[in-house]
Amino acid sequence: MTAPVPRPLPALLCFDVEDLISPESDDAAMWMAQMLTEYGLTGTFMVVGEKARLWERRGRRDVIEALKRHHLGYHSTWHSVHPTTTEHCLDKDFAQGIEAIWAWDREGWQDTERILGRPLLGWARTGASWAPSIQGLMGRMGRAYAYSRVRLPETSVCWYGGCLGFYDDGVGGFDDAFVDDALFSQRLAKAKQGVDERTRWPRRGAHWTDVFMCHPTRAIHTSFWDGMNFVEGANPPRSQWKPAVLHPAEKLPTIQGNFRRLCTWLRDQTELEIVGWGELIRRYDGQRPHATHAELLAAARRIVDERRVLFTDHFTAAELLLMLCKAVGVGVGGQGGPAATYARPTALGPLSMPPRSSERTWPAAELRSAAQRVIEDTARTGYLPASESVGGEAVGIGTVFVALAQVLLGADSAGGPSDAFYPAEAEAVALDAGTDIPKWIIHPKNMDLSKLLEQTRLQCWTLKPAWTCEDLGI
Ligand SMILES: [Zn+2]
Repeated sequence: MTAPVPRPLPALLCFDVEDLISPESDDAAMWMAQMLTEYGLTGTFMVVGEKARLWERRGRRDVIEALKRHHLGYHSTWHSVHPTTTEHCLDKDFAQGIEAIWAWDREGWQDTERILGRPLLGWARTGASWAPSIQGLMGRMGRAYAYSRVRLPETSVCWYGGCLGFYDDGVGGFDDAFVDDALFSQRLAKAKQGVDERTRWPRRGAHWTDVFMCHPTRAIHTSFWDGMNFVEGANPPRSQWKPAVLHPAEKLPTIQGNFRRLCTWLRDQTELEIVGWGELIRRYDGQRPHATHAELLAAARRIVDERRVLFTDHFTAAELLLMLCKAVGVGVGGQGGPAATYARPTALGPLSMPPRSSERTWPAAELRSAAQRVIEDTARTGYLPASESVGGEAVGIGTVFVALAQVLLGADSAGGPSDAFYPAEAEAVALDAGTDIPKWIIHPKNMDLSKLLEQTRLQCWTLKPAWTCEDLGI
């Protein structure tokens, strides 16, 4: 047996540019961008909004011009200054979270696009500060999200909350090592091994890996800028912000020498396909425009067999539900009923937990008219209702989902499990987010994540793998 030949793995060279205190960190971002260009490499720089404003105030056109040769994403307006993205959303539902983040970050986003002179490709998670609403905001704006907490077992780029999200996985760990040749050699060897492993992982659908190049500020300082000031919820006024300690100036040749070693490896390796974020977004930013009736029937059979909320390779559970509603439609005014194809509808997940439903069946006619109301309710709000009235009873939306699949297949009466709240994959997504978010030292201890994680699960109604436009034939 011959081993499968690993395909080159699409990779981004990511930098988080975020120090709001040390002016020296501006120069570090600049020379790194310039060296990348020198090696013919494309980087993706995630820029904090207030940092861009500082460049404007300090007249650092040179920094901006060096970065503009690469791809640019947003890294929030204030990064570790509280409230963080997660903190905004703790007590809010998905929709309220979107409004809260945008109220806080709109000006920063707009200033950054103005100062950098080009549209930002998307948002990159700051520290471990994630919430489903941040992907919802990017989805609403037609932008992507990097370092997402949402993936599927063999797909690292997924649709979630209406947004193309790139799951946080990759190699890196160079931040504190540039200053130390021996340590850098170890980290580089580890990164090479990490790349090698990743090219062999099973892959379906859209993929990427993050070669996390560094936080430019951390390469030249002995610690993180935010660790000095904002740990565990601390939020001193700007006048009291303390800069991190710089490495001595004579260390700069070592730091730059090791950055060059990193560039040399990346230029010469063959396992990765290094691109800019915008190129990958273009490659993956496609969805099937419609489902055929045969496809919808196949999905309905799976739903009936498995008796749960599910999604397919090309359609989220929310999209399937709305297409089922259409297909079983009563044909009011010539609308609804089986068709050759169904346009892919757009809808976000419910904003509250569906109620536990009774274990019974309802006549198909009652489910057909409930389906009509699901379409109307969703069209009015953009969100699936948590429940729909069936014969006067409030039935959980997941229970309706399973029942409608039976109706489409011809059942005279149908029901569903009492506790079909969202796709089963939601548990792994919530576990991942719930494990990661508290790890960030900037976050206060003992944050209550229960509401945020419930919203995370509910939004899995909008989860599905992403594909290349080529795979989709579009
Ligand atoms: Zn960051």
